[in-house]
Amino acid sequence: MRKIGGRGLFIGLSWIAFLIVVASALLAIYLVAPRILSIHPLLMIPLRAGFAVFVLAVGGGLLLITIAAFTGLDVLYPHNGESITMRVLFPITLGLGKVFGFKKLRLMEAFVDANNSLLWAQRKRISSDRILLLLPHCLQFHECQWRITHDIENCRRCGKCVIADIAKLGDEFGAAIRVATGGTLARKVVSDYKPTLIIAVACGRDLSSGIIDSHPIPVFGVPNERPNGPCFDTVVDVDRIAELLKEFMPPKGQNKPD
Ligand code: SF4
Repeated sequence: MRKIGGRGLFIGLSWIAFLIVVASALLAIYLVAPRILSIHPLLMIPLRAGFAVFVLAVGGGLLLITIAAFTGLDVLYPHNGESITMRVLFPITLGLGKVFGFKKLRLMEAFVDANNSLLWAQRKRISSDRILLLLPHCLQFHECQWRITHDIENCRRCGKCVIADIAKLGDEFGAAIRVATGGTLARKVVSDYKPTLIIAVACGRDLSSGIIDSHPIPVFGVPNERPNGPCFDTVVDVDRIAELLKEFMPPKGQNKPD
């Protein structure tokens, strides 16, 4: 969870985008300054003040996001750090990353990693009243006959896929687990269950869209691995899911440690 990964790419691109905007604004001010000075010299004061406020507000926000993502310290504003990341930084970094030749999937995974880092920094503020563990159907062994999309308890724990280990985690922590066969069903599950926190397993593409669609519900994204190709007998790091459940849910019969 804490190791440096795609968040470095995401935040690096965010800083480059910020510096491009600042340089463009400085150039624009330089070009229009003679005209404004010819009208009245005092008109330059609000222009320069507006530029300074922009640099301080956006640059300061980006600095806090950077500190939170890399140190795990909760230095973000109480409610809008995630919103800025998703609504502003994600589309900008996606566009800029494509210009630099990064693959879209790589950029989406970087966004998920940055999102996870920021949520981790804010974890003490996240309500764990209703935690939903949302899984993709492609984790299930393709020849398995048991209908786990209706109820993961239908899994016979045969061990042919990671569903067995995840079902055991459900038993240990009492977590609500749902298996969705697509984005539409996943959205319905979220709408019906009304979680305060989602731990979602999916590919980078589905995770990034799910994180944005579910906002303001916090979503920790756990990318699945696809050794057999996309959407077929995929696997996931179950220890990573267990780490998140341990942070937010005491095992059944135990009090959550301070
Ligand atoms: S572990 Fe469960 S879901 Fe996976 S193949 Fe066995 S019975 Fe099916």
